[in-house]
Amino acid sequence: MCKFAILYSEKLKEYDLGHVLTQDRYQNFIELFQERLGHYSDFKIVTPPYATDSDLKLIHTEDYIQRIERCESRDPFDTPLSPGLVRAAKLLAGAGKYAGELVHSGEYAKAFVIGGGVQHASRNREKGFGVFSDVGICAQNLVQNFGVTKILIIDTDAHAGDGIYEIFSEDPKVLYLSMHQDPSTLYPGKGFVDEIGNGLGKGYSVNVPLPPHAGDTVYEYALNQVFVPLAEEFEPEIILMVDGSDPHFTDRITQMGLTLKGIKMVATLVSETADRICAGKLIDFVGSGYSSSLQVVSLGWLASIAGVTGTEVAIEEPYPIPPDLKPDRGLKEASETVRSIKNRLSAYWTCFGS
Ligand SMILES: [Zn+2]
Repeated sequence: MCKFAILYSEKLKEYDLGHVLTQDRYQNFIELFQERLGHYSDFKIVTPPYATDSDLKLIHTEDYIQRIERCESRDPFDTPLSPGLVRAAKLLAGAGKYAGELVHSGEYAKAFVIGGGVQHASRNREKGFGVFSDVGICAQNLVQNFGVTKILIIDTDAHAGDGIYEIFSEDPKVLYLSMHQDPSTLYPGKGFVDEIGNGLGKGYSVNVPLPPHAGDTVYEYALNQVFVPLAEEFEPEIILMVDGSDPHFTDRITQMGLTLKGIKMVATLVSETADRICAGKLIDFVGSGYSSSLQVVSLGWLASIAGVTGTEVAIEEPYPIPPDLKPDRGLKEASETVRSIKNRLSAYWTCFGS
């Protein structure tokens, strides 16, 4: 029986924004996947369905959906709209929803939304390369239509997920933990430690800003200090992960210091936590990565899949790691940030109590 669903379609190539996010990344990835993991019978490539209007309405407003259909863009430089892009955005949204159902039902142990992980789009606004919130639709569908009451989203993309934060900031059923480059140095300029949710959702959003160039050891430290204890205390029924390749040290639009080995380590750590806490139920949205080397982007996605599934596969680092990029670079700043997060959240989580 296949255990791992790879949600992928050639139609994803319509997701081309004409800047750092181009369509050739999908073809490049699937070729690498076939070459390195294609012979494992545990994996199955599953064609995702397009999201319907009622799927989109799980998160987005009617007015917004109609404006997007008309291709009236409010973020024309980062997220230009075209009929092809809108179709592809619906495909990603459909993939997110379907991935959640495949894992929740037990049909697959894990699912991967290739090209997914929309972070900045909100209920009524396209933003930062994203149009429809695949992650939000996945989570809300499980809550609304399948009675799931506790979902944890762990987001290690280099950018803070301000859209996901906005969508779930008042909802205690969805615990959102975003670990990202210090937003005072990177888009979207949100995701500071004092953003911990609102109303009933206060304490159910956690932002972990890390200093630029933070390396593998720093990510491992922050995950063990914040993600693992929170996951153990919250006891989610399912975990959603947003990662991809943009925290890699070669990325053109971010300044983080993860290696490919580090990307795999992060995925392994999250997956092992899911194994302990929620019977391994995990959906991985792998879509970021803007390195000038498409190979790095694809290798990062592969590293994530290998880490989540515990599959042995050769993942070579195509470029030398800069000598000043020590794995523990930024550890001191990160430990201060972690202390501050624990102080702020100790009223909501006993694991962070004194
Ligand atoms: Zn990103």
